[in-house]
Amino acid sequence: MKLTFLGAARTVTGSCFLLETGNTKILIDCGMFQGRAKEEAMNEQPLPVSPAEIDYVLLTHAHIDHSGRIPWLYVNGFEGEVIAQKAAVELCSLLLPDSGYIQEFETEWKNRKRMRAGLKPVVPLYTAAQAEESLELFKKVSYDEIIQLTDDIRVRFKNSGHMLGSAFVEMWIRENGKEEKIVFTGDIGNTDMPILKDPEPIEEADYVVMESTYGDRLHSEKENKAEKFLEIVLDTLDRGGNVVIPSFAVGRTQEIIYEINKTLTLPAEKVVRLLNTPVYIDSPLAISATEVYRRNLDCYDEEARWYIENGDNPLDFPNLHFSRTADESRAINQITGGCIIISASGMCEAGRIKHHLKHNLWREKSTILFVGYQAEGTLGRRLLDGAKKVNIFGEEISVNARIESIDGYSGHADYVGLINWLKNFRKMPKGIFLVHGEEKALFSLSDRIQEEFDIEPIIPLRDESFVIEANQEISRSFERETTGRFRYLPVISLLEDVKEGIGDMAAMLMEEMIQGVDDRRLEDITRKLKLLQKDMVSVLSADKK
Ligand SMILES: [Zn+2]
Repeated sequence: MKLTFLGAARTVTGSCFLLETGNTKILIDCGMFQGRAKEEAMNEQPLPVSPAEIDYVLLTHAHIDHSGRIPWLYVNGFEGEVIAQKAAVELCSLLLPDSGYIQEFETEWKNRKRMRAGLKPVVPLYTAAQAEESLELFKKVSYDEIIQLTDDIRVRFKNSGHMLGSAFVEMWIRENGKEEKIVFTGDIGNTDMPILKDPEPIEEADYVVMESTYGDRLHSEKENKAEKFLEIVLDTLDRGGNVVIPSFAVGRTQEIIYEINKTLTLPAEKVVRLLNTPVYIDSPLAISATEVYRRNLDCYDEEARWYIENGDNPLDFPNLHFSRTADESRAINQITGGCIIISASGMCEAGRIKHHLKHNLWREKSTILFVGYQAEGTLGRRLLDGAKKVNIFGEEISVNARIESIDGYSGHADYVGLINWLKNFRKMPKGIFLVHGEEKALFSLSDRIQEEFDIEPIIPLRDESFVIEANQEISRSFERETTGRFRYLPVISLLEDVKEGIGDMAAMLMEEMIQGVDDRRLEDITRKLKLLQKDMVSVLSADKK
C-alpha cells in the first residue's frame, strides 16, 4: 500500500491522508486548512488523484479541519461513500452546510472588494447547498462494527473520546497474501472529560498514524478544572460582571453546559447564586449541536448516564437560555453584569462572540474565560498573550476585563495521555507516523516516544508518500510537485511570518516603552527600521524590471 500525507503534516489543520492499494483509493479525513491566507489558498489545491477515482472517505470525526473539504471533493466529482460513526454524521449535517454558508459569505465580501478594484470575482470553495447535497454520500456506522470495504480491506471505528462520534479508524489490508493493520488516530481525546468516554485502548497494529497536538504540553489543571471554573465564575458574579466564554459551538459548548449542570448539584450555599444566574448559549449552531448531543445518549460516559438515569437531563437546567435570532443575541449585549455568555467561535475569529467581546472586554468587572486551544495569530491568542488593546469590527477596544484560561477542558490528550495510549499496545507497531501538530510538538513527542519505546517515529512532510510492504523497509518519496499558481504559497507564507515578526517587535517595544526611554537604543532601532523599510519596497519591485 501507498500512504500519502496531504494535510496535517507538520501543522494542525487540513487532515487528509490518501491510502492506495492495487485497486482501491481511500482518503482518511478530508479536512480544511485553517489559519492565514496561505492555508485558505491550500484548500483549492488539487489532490494527486482525481476525486472521481476515490472510492471511500473514512472520517474520524466531524470537526471542520477533518471533514471540511468533503463537499469540495463532491463538487469536484467524488461519488464514493463517506463512512463515519453515526453521531459524527449527524454533526457533519450541521457543520458542513454551516461551513458552506461561511464560504459563501466570505466570498461575497471578498468579491465586493475585488469588484471595486476592477478584479474578476471568485467562487466559494463550496456553497451551503452543495454541502447539503454532499451529505447524501454519508453512511452511518456504529463503534466496534467490522465493515468489509472490499475483498481485501476491513475497517472498524473505535471511540477516541475527542468529541461526540469521534473515532480511531482501524484498517486491515490484505496485499499479496499478507495482512497488515494500520490505525489512524484522528484526534485522541483527554481522559475524564465531561460527557465523553475515555479513548479506547488499541492493542495491536503494524502502523499507527498519530496526532501530536499537545506533544509538548501537559494539562496542568485537569484534576481541579471544575473547581477553578466555579471559582472564576462566582468571583466574577460577585464583582457584578459577566462571564464570557468563547467556545467551539460543537463539543466544548455542550461540555460546559454539562459542567454547569453538574455544579448545580453541589452543596447549596456554593451554588445558590449560580442557580439564579442566566446562562446564554448564543450560537445557532451550538443550539442545533446540543440537540444532536441530547439524541446520542449511547455515546455518553457512565457519569453522564447516571444523571439521565436519575431523571436529570445533564444538558439542561432552569436558567439555560438559547438565543437563535440576531435580535435575541443583541439583547444580551445590553446586560452589563450577572450572566454567563457562551458563544462561538472558540478562537474569537468570527461569529457572535466578537460582539460579546466588544461589549465586555473594556469592562473591568467582566471576565473572558477561555476553555479551548487558541491558535497562533487568532484574536483569542492575542488576548491570552496579554494584549492591552485589540481591534474588533474596526474599533479599538481596551482590554480591562479579567482574562482567564482553563486548559483542562482540552479535547486533546497531553503528552502523558498520548504516551499512555501507546502503552496499550501489547507489541509496539513497526512504524509510527506523527501528524497533526506544530513542529515543536511533533519533535518533542517524537523524542519522548524514542525514550519510552525505543522506536523512532516518522514525521512526514506534506505531500510525502510512503510505500509500505510486508517484510520490507518503508520507502519514501514525493508524489506531487507544487505547480502553477500554488508555487506562490510558500512565498506568501514567508511574508506572513515577517508580518507576524514585525507585530511581535511592536509589542516588545510597547513593553520597553513602559520601562523608560533609552535614547541610544531608540536611535539605533529607528535607523535599522528605516533601512528595512527601504529594503521592503525593493522586494516586490526588483524582479519586475
Ligand atoms: Zn478534532
